Amino acid sequence: MAYPAPALLDKLASLLGAKGFTRDPGDMAPWLSDWRGRYHGAAAAMLSPATREEIVEIVRLCAAAQVALVPQGGNSSMVGGATPDSSGEALIVSTRRMKRIRSLDAEAGLAVCEAGVILADLHATALAAGRRFPLTLGAKGSATIGGLVSTNAGGTQVLRFGPMRALVQGIEAVLPDGSLFEGLTALRKDNRGYDLRQLLIGAEGTLGIVTAATLTLVPAAAGRAVAWAGVASATDATRLLRHLEAALGDAVESFELVPKSALDLVLAHVPGTWAPLAAAVPWNVLIEAVGPNPDEPLSRALAIALESGLVADAVVAASEAQAQAFWRLRDSISEAEKKDGPAAKHDISVAVGDMAPFMTEAAAAVEARFAGTRVNAFGHLGDGNVHFNVRAPEGAGPGWVESIGEEVSAFVHDLVTAAGGSISAEHGIGQMKVGELARLGDPARLDALRAIKRALDPANIMNPGKLVPPVDPMEAPSFHQSLAQKGVRP
Ligand SMILES: Cc1cc2nc3c(=O)[nH]c(=O)nc-3n(C[C@H](O)[C@H](O)[C@H](O)COP(=O)(O)OP(=O)(O)OC[C@H]3O[C@@H](n4cnc5c(N)ncnc54)[C@H](O)[C@@H]3O)c2cc1C
Repeated sequence: MAYPAPALLDKLASLLGAKGFTRDPGDMAPWLSDWRGRYHGAAAAMLSPATREEIVEIVRLCAAAQVALVPQGGNSSMVGGATPDSSGEALIVSTRRMKRIRSLDAEAGLAVCEAGVILADLHATALAAGRRFPLTLGAKGSATIGGLVSTNAGGTQVLRFGPMRALVQGIEAVLPDGSLFEGLTALRKDNRGYDLRQLLIGAEGTLGIVTAATLTLVPAAAGRAVAWAGVASATDATRLLRHLEAALGDAVESFELVPKSALDLVLAHVPGTWAPLAAAVPWNVLIEAVGPNPDEPLSRALAIALESGLVADAVVAASEAQAQAFWRLRDSISEAEKKDGPAAKHDISVAVGDMAPFMTEAAAAVEARFAGTRVNAFGHLGDGNVHFNVRAPEGAGPGWVESIGEEVSAFVHDLVTAAGGSISAEHGIGQMKVGELARLGDPARLDALRAIKRALDPANIMNPGKLVPPVDPMEAPSFHQSLAQKGVRP
């Protein structure tokens, strides 16, 4: 990869104008570190194009000069996916000025959004048209459509609607040679061979820059009921999900597991939060059901679960404000963990039915192997995906993740792999897990990944160092220590 020559930077500056080009360290600083504050990179400039034509021109110029590009949306990646390396050679391509919803067809249930549209803004616009975009997550105020597409994001409604992959009908993207792939048409049937749209979903910016996407909208919910329930074990939580599905069918849209440890962290670190249940329980679940009048069937189903002893206590939100307060508890877990101290974080999945026993056994194994650690596993139990985070022993300093965390993570990932699971359920690989993917990925999958990358981006200008492990395992950054080895501030 080459450092961009002054002549190239001049061309880009005049192409993009003052609003779209900066080399000012102060302007660039917030975009050079990841949300967790774990990765700190450098860039020769930050480009903020306003149109897809400008992106085409940027990519053509940079492909010719073999200059690396790092696509960036809301910079809420959990795996350092949007942070450039420390060489300072790359250019960040931010989509923050591409915020237009090009069209919204309520009848057809389709919205064509530019890459920089923020998820919460799409929610609001769709709702005003009597529709909704059925994917949400804690970072909805900053995550963009381009980032969500490129990470195949999941979130709290996957149970019913699936991840981004299930909701993207078309994609427009600039490929690594600067050609424009115009695939926005929402075709239900299209069998012209390899599906480039699906290839770009989850590609983490390594195969091109997504400029727009056609997304599925569903009818706005006639009503919603949100409940908080306490159970004795993760296995009981899975049983409760099955009971609710039998009683309410596909009205159950969210089923989020919140252990006592996670709730305690939120109550301690997030002002204005309180425990929904009178007495503390080992496991909590946040349930959302939708429909014309979902309160009544949800309350009835929970009452039956209470009577049978499956549920220890439960409360159905009496108002929208209370429903939002319940969701705030769930959505604040990552923030509260961050405030609490160091933790080795893992976004893992196993088969849905295996998750409860896996969590119990894996937590016991980790805590026995690494004295003083505390497992905080929470999230999308109904999808077989939890954030299996291992908190450092009390009093551990900020260097714990770098000194011990890699060993902890390798241990967790080995357990997940042995259980037939995935080391990345929804956050992607980014730079954080490239080494682990190289270590644990099966050779056929890794060879195919590399071959696709080579075919579409032979000069490796698109988000180099992310997602695709190098052939030589010695070149793949190990899980945490890569930061220290590269001289990157932990
Ligand atoms: C509090 C919090 C909660 C979260 N909860 C969830 C959750 O429940 N489920 C979940 O899946 N994720 C979750 N995330 C992770 C994150 O929000 C998602 O990965 C999101 O999709 C990233 O969107 P972004 O716009 O911020 O992308 P960025 O962080 O800017 O980029 C993410 C990746 O996509 C690439 N990219 C960005 N835009 C483009 C583009 N236009 N074209 C090509 N590549 C592009 C980047 O290069 C990078 O590899 C959470 C994050 C936070 C901070």
